[in-house]
Amino acid sequence: MIKKTFTPFKNKIWLSSPTMHGEELKYMTEAYETNWMSTVGANINEVERLTAEKVGCKYAVALSCGTAALHLAIKLAGVKPGDKVFCSDMTFDATVNPVVYEGGIPVFIDTEYDTWNMDPVALEKAFEIYPEVKVVVVAHLYGTPGKIDEIQSICDRHGAIIVEDAAESLGATYKGKMTGSFGRVGVCSFNGNKIITGSSGGCLLTDDKEAADKVRKWSTQSRENAPWYQHEELGYNYRMSNVIAGVVRGQFPYLEEHIAQKKEIYERYREGFKGLPVQMNPMDLENSVPNYWLSCMIIHPESMCKQVRGEQETLYTAESGKSCPTEILETLAKYNAEGRPIWKPMHMQPIYRMNPFVTREGDGRAKTNAYISGGAVGKDGKPLDVGMDIFQRGLCLPSDNKMTVEEQDRVIEIVKSCYE
Ligand SMILES: *Cc1c(COP(=O)(O)O)cnc(C)c1O
Repeated sequence: MIKKTFTPFKNKIWLSSPTMHGEELKYMTEAYETNWMSTVGANINEVERLTAEKVGCKYAVALSCGTAALHLAIKLAGVKPGDKVFCSDMTFDATVNPVVYEGGIPVFIDTEYDTWNMDPVALEKAFEIYPEVKVVVVAHLYGTPGKIDEIQSICDRHGAIIVEDAAESLGATYKGKMTGSFGRVGVCSFNGNKIITGSSGGCLLTDDKEAADKVRKWSTQSRENAPWYQHEELGYNYRMSNVIAGVVRGQFPYLEEHIAQKKEIYERYREGFKGLPVQMNPMDLENSVPNYWLSCMIIHPESMCKQVRGEQETLYTAESGKSCPTEILETLAKYNAEGRPIWKPMHMQPIYRMNPFVTREGDGRAKTNAYISGGAVGKDGKPLDVGMDIFQRGLCLPSDNKMTVEEQDRVIEIVKSCYE
């Protein structure tokens, strides 16, 4: 079987790289020229104002990164050593690591096909098994909001609070309200690959003044109001730099433009893949408007060629009319375009393998990969482990907003060629 060949891209097509506009440099220079080169200054104040205004929360505290914001959110939520915390399972590990920083035990809640986010049915199940849990960490993956209303009402019924990880979903709304504004505490990120960036940085979001003040204090080494360095509490060096804040400040006016570009990319893929045995990640949802951060696709089960993934390596067997994420990603890489596997679910990660994992029909006991890869299916005939299934069949496509239409057309042709 001879597959079509293409000219490699001269300039690499990235998954999602920073897109600068010029104003970033102006604010960075301003920090330099006024010598506000530390973790205090006008850019930081402005980032906090802009973020709170955009998200629709009362306070945003500018921090060194989204992970730092999540760490302080977990501290605010009062997680203590030994406490179990329900967490999104198919997410980036920064969503859950902060629980462990505080000595908590993440209990992973399986994913649903509808939004590729936390399954409310599995969450309800988890509360049956662990009624004592008081904190739920929910991520909105790839810019698609999860079913936050349903999750909220389940949490309310069980007296638990939500920590909302909106690192990937800045600007996305659920029933007209911004993601990041739902949880008792929310978090956004300005990491280099996010929808807008400061090169790094993040914010903690809350409506609670006391919480915001605490986080500001913790993030600056918990200094007390004394003439010398006086400390009553454990502190952290988590504050955002005023130079970084200059970049974020310069990016903010372009958030909506970036979202519009990402939306066009998503729609061009969807159009271009018509006729292929694939589906795009869920972005057309009744209750939400995503920010289209990453375009992803999932291959229909019957059109998957054979693919085996170990802990570090992967192999596949090419088959006519079929493909798999490994083949598509390797083919894209061959032509200098960057895709990525779906974020490998936390319950499949060696570090979290023995943590409890709850599926919609599961019994909540820690499961090993061997158990699940047996291909267990639920009463509806669908795979019981949804996260693992999406990981096996799905992939993230090059979603850089500087990619031209011609470049994207070539990416589409390259993906199509994998099915020849
Ligand atoms: C990027 C990301 C984070 C962490 O943000 P940083 O600013 O990189 O620390 C947390 N959660 C998710 C889902 C992310 O994608």
